[in-house]
Amino acid sequence: MNAVRFGIDIGGTKTAIVGISPAGEVIVKRVFATEPARGLEDFLTRCKTAYQEALAESGADRPPAAVGVASPGPLDLARGIMYDSPNLHWGDVPLVDRLEQTLETKILLQNDANAAALGEYLFGAGRGSRCLVYVTMSTGIGGGVVVDGRLWAGSSGNAAEFGHLTLVPGGEECGCGLKGCWEAYASGTALARLGRQVTGREVSARDIGRAWSDQAPWADEIIARAARYSGQAVAIIVQSFDPDRLVFGGGVALGLGRRYLDLVLAEAERFCLNFRVRRPHFTLAALGGDSALFGAAALPEANLGIGRY
Ligand SMILES: [Zn+2]
Repeated sequence: MNAVRFGIDIGGTKTAIVGISPAGEVIVKRVFATEPARGLEDFLTRCKTAYQEALAESGADRPPAAVGVASPGPLDLARGIMYDSPNLHWGDVPLVDRLEQTLETKILLQNDANAAALGEYLFGAGRGSRCLVYVTMSTGIGGGVVVDGRLWAGSSGNAAEFGHLTLVPGGEECGCGLKGCWEAYASGTALARLGRQVTGREVSARDIGRAWSDQAPWADEIIARAARYSGQAVAIIVQSFDPDRLVFGGGVALGLGRRYLDLVLAEAERFCLNFRVRRPHFTLAALGGDSALFGAAALPEANLGIGRY
């Protein structure tokens, strides 16, 4: 079998490697714990083993010319550098060079949210769309944009960093060091912080979601607040890109589900002029936690027009 495309998604908790057919069928998949505390070199060794096993199991008659990699940012795509990532703590590393040396193949790097946008566009909830915006709501908030079949990565690869849109000047402190970012109001981290303030105990975003399903008033208050800010951000996104489809992924969005999405949209309605002309189709990601992994596998064939390709 010739046409196996390989993608790797490096996450703070786990790393996945997939081999897919051109139609997006999974031929082989390997998942291992990233264990970032063991350091980059140790990770690379384990990544090589997993990749070689996946390659052998895929039945491909030769290694692929290139492998796509999705990783947390911030990244410098032109130089192939991953800057000190808050979930990995590897410092600034020449990730592309190190992976190319280790896996002995060309590496095409992209940030995970952009890769997820491409994955959903090609194989998931974005199929058939002309202008797709993908928003991930998880520990943080990020996004990606695909226009006419091309990922819009921006001039440095950092386009669609929606989580750091300022919604409240001088507002809540964000993990990025700025104040009032969307992420500081509606990410999993923000929900947990708000949950702690409201209940006086440690609660995760998942606990809040569960309590919200059980109609606990305290959870309702937290979710309504997050939805309000998210609606404001979604309106900005729709005004900026005029997408025909908006896909929401990430643990928080997928965990809270359609009911939360509808709340966000009802809020967005109050701010969004474009809705009067045309409402984009709003949907949850179809590939679950694998959007970025599928997108990574498609990177070698995606013409991004940026960086070292
Ligand atoms: Zn921020």
